[in-house]
Amino acid sequence: MNNKPEPIVLVSAIEHYAYCPRQCALIHCDGVWIDNRHTVRGSWAHRRVDSGAHRQERGRRVLRAIPLWSERLGLSGRADAVEIESDSVIPVEYKSGTPHGSAANLQLCAQALCLEEMLGVSVPLGYVWYGGPRRRVEVDMSSALRLEVCRIIQEIREQLTSGTLPIAPNDNRCRECQLEPHCLPGVTNASRRIHQYMRDIVFACDT
Ligand code: SF4
Repeated sequence: MNNKPEPIVLVSAIEHYAYCPRQCALIHCDGVWIDNRHTVRGSWAHRRVDSGAHRQERGRRVLRAIPLWSERLGLSGRADAVEIESDSVIPVEYKSGTPHGSAANLQLCAQALCLEEMLGVSVPLGYVWYGGPRRRVEVDMSSALRLEVCRIIQEIREQLTSGTLPIAPNDNRCRECQLEPHCLPGVTNASRRIHQYMRDIVFACDT
C-alpha cells in the first residue's frame, strides 16, 4: 500500500502549466528559475501588492497578499488582492503585460475555488488587472473554467509524482519563455530526433 501523501500543488503552477507543461515541470519539479524581462517587469509591478498593505478603496476593503489553500483540491498559494464588500468576495490577479491565452484566468479561478472553501462563500467572478493596457478584465468563474482548473491540478500532481519532463513544444511560446536558456527547446528536440533515429536504426538492424 502506498501511504505517501499527495503532493500539494501551488496555485502559481497552474499558470505555468497552462503556458507550457514543460515549464511547469522545470520550475516545480526541478527547481529551475531564471528571470527575464517579463518576470523582472512582473516583480516590479507587484511591489505594491507584495507589500501586504490592506486599504479601503471605493467603498471596498482590499486585502493584499492573502494566503490561500484548498484541502479538497490539495492547493496552496496566495492571492494578489481580495476585494471584500458586504455581499461579495472578489479575487484580483495583477499581470504586468497584456491579455493573452487563458493561463491568468485559470490561476484566478484556482484562487476563487480556494476562497470558496476557506470562507464558505460563492465566488462567481474575479478580475485580472493588466498593466499593459492598464485595465482590468472580468473573469466569469464558469463551470467549464472550474473543470479545466481541476483537470490541470490533477495533471500537475501526476507530473510532481512521476517527475516526468514533457517534450519541448519548441514553438512561439519559447521565444518569450524565461526558461529558454535552460530548456534549450531547439537542441533538446533535435537530440530527441537523433535518439529516435538511432533507435530506429538499431531496431531495424536487429530484425
Ligand atoms: S522554452 Fe519552450 S518548451 Fe521550454 S519551458 Fe519554455 S515554453 Fe516550454
